[in-house]
Amino acid sequence: MDLTNKRVAVLGLGASGEAAAKLLHRKGALVSVFDSNPVPSAKVSAMRDLNISVGTEAAVYSDHYDLAVVSPGINPQSPLVRLFKNITHCGELELAFRFCSRPIIAITGTNGKTTTTELVTRMLNTAGIRSLACGNIGLPLSEAINRQDEIDIFTVEVSSFQLETVFTFKPAIALWLNFAADHLDRYPTLDAYYHAKLRIFANQNASDWAIVNRRERLPSLAAQTLTFNAYDNDAEFSFDSGEICFRGTPVLDIAETQLHGIHNIENLMAALGVAFVLRIPWEKAAIGLKGYRLLPHRCETVGNIDGVTYINDSKATNIDSLRKALESQTAPVILIAGGKDKGFDFDSLIELIAAKVKQAVLIGEMGNRIRDSWSRAVPCVLASTLLESVQIARRAAHCGEVVLFSPGTSSFDMFRDYSDRGDQFREIVQELSR
Ligand code: ADP
Repeated sequence: MDLTNKRVAVLGLGASGEAAAKLLHRKGALVSVFDSNPVPSAKVSAMRDLNISVGTEAAVYSDHYDLAVVSPGINPQSPLVRLFKNITHCGELELAFRFCSRPIIAITGTNGKTTTTELVTRMLNTAGIRSLACGNIGLPLSEAINRQDEIDIFTVEVSSFQLETVFTFKPAIALWLNFAADHLDRYPTLDAYYHAKLRIFANQNASDWAIVNRRERLPSLAAQTLTFNAYDNDAEFSFDSGEICFRGTPVLDIAETQLHGIHNIENLMAALGVAFVLRIPWEKAAIGLKGYRLLPHRCETVGNIDGVTYINDSKATNIDSLRKALESQTAPVILIAGGKDKGFDFDSLIELIAAKVKQAVLIGEMGNRIRDSWSRAVPCVLASTLLESVQIARRAAHCGEVVLFSPGTSSFDMFRDYSDRGDQFREIVQELSR
């Protein structure tokens, strides 16, 4: 891709947009960045130092551009993107891929992407294969490729928002962890979300690999395929008596890892699939996997007060992740859930709620609707703040029980993001335990 003196508009100045703008600049393009929201002045001056102009959509004369690079955070239906409808466009991931000279392991799924991206990266580095975790996990691929001389293979977390705008992106290994309802505030239908994700396989051929959850109904794939599933003994990676087995032979004892829950067993299976493809011996692969500890906000134990365990699962931003958190609990649960209304139907959890939850405390925009759904199964109480919800949960919990904060939806109605929400929960619990 020759970008010399090409006029390129970057839409959106988040981390991806900034990295794309810098990459384009390095490749000799004449870059302008547009963002509908106010951009911090430090970012504007950093761009201007590179001769990159920054403006709002009022400043757009889209006919001037040869290419538009759309940030994943920007809805393709937004007025800003529509201004460029006659211009060739792609996303930051596609742009970076064009300049990436190393093979890519791409990881998608509704849930477990970040955990699996970290597991794979750690496993590879421990086994002596130099890898860097990038993409949706935080470090844009456009920035990561600056270091490609020191990397053997990139491990890239890819979201549906990124996959919407890829055209030639071709990972050597593509991981499909799972698919469940989410992002209905961005996609018109669940099918549209599914098809955006499927683009991970679009350019793969028989020299590539797809590592897929056997539960999923996927179209026939051009790549060589490996399957995993913790409930299905016909999958190549299966789960039996506490061990992950490959074609029937035990390869990893879960008790030797730091992870819990069937969902994390499947994340480990997907990582082991990468080990198989790259011919890393199981014992060597296991070293990195056994040492991995989950990031905060993913079923993180944040305290124990009077024998009650408090778990922060603020990263549970959809129903399926809430389901997995509940399935992992063995003691009675006082569940704190709720948040932004993303169009989810919480009825599907009724049976699990009845089986696991002693009391539900509901917060946020969704609070009333969840109460209407679940009160058939358990006592439900509304709380207007997170502090109040924890106080109610504390009064309801007895020694040996669990207070699980697993919202099942996004945080933006009351918090900056999921990490702000989880940090506040942790602080409240720590304050109560003093
Ligand atoms: P993502 O990057 O896809 O959001 P994370 O690894 O950050 O995934 O985990 C997000 C949430 O999903 C957490 O609540 C976590 O406990 C849960 N989770 C992790 N792996 C899985 C999985 N394989 N299936 C369902 N839920 C999962």
